[in-house]
Amino acid sequence: MIVLLFALATALGLELWASFVHERLWHGPLWAWHEPHHRPGNRALNSNDLLSASHAPPAALLCFLGSLGMLVNGHAVFHVGFGIGVGATAFGLAYFLVHDGFIHGRLPLGGLRRFAYFERIRRAHLVHHGTNAEPYGMFAPTFAPRVSSSPEEEPWNAPTQTPCSPASEPSSPQPPRQTP
Ligand SMILES: [Zn+2]
Ligand SMILES: [Zn+2]
Repeated sequence: MIVLLFALATALGLELWASFVHERLWHGPLWAWHEPHHRPGNRALNSNDLLSASHAPPAALLCFLGSLGMLVNGHAVFHVGFGIGVGATAFGLAYFLVHDGFIHGRLPLGGLRRFAYFERIRRAHLVHHGTNAEPYGMFAPTFAPRVSSSPEEEPWNAPTQTPCSPASEPSSPQPPRQTP
């Protein structure tokens, strides 16, 4: 039960954390690493993937040490560690599947557009790519565009020929957000 609680809390907390680091670090001091991801149609492996993958080793370590401790010792702290590791791993996997696989077309998951929730967060994320601004979050974006807007008003809402084609991703008309 402790494992489940901490796994859920970690997954929820990581949405906030991902939004925070995306805005304050990736669009700040680490923009040079994140910028290749904002080039339209760029699906190749790039430095931004390292930013995302940097969260995997700590999560894997927590899973390993937590599960080992649970087997050997059984102290509650190992259950907590394992729960955090499981939650972080689940969030990372979901982020990869939805962000990289579905939204940016690295995996054949375009069928998810049939579901209103996935289409909504896809559009919200493409707004981010079009403006280099809000929303920075992924699963609970603070802002999402109107679905009924015209392509002229909001080019990222223009109908696409194939789901998640490069043409569906807007260019970056504005410079990256400046941080002090
Ligand atoms: Zn993206
Ligand atoms: Zn970004």
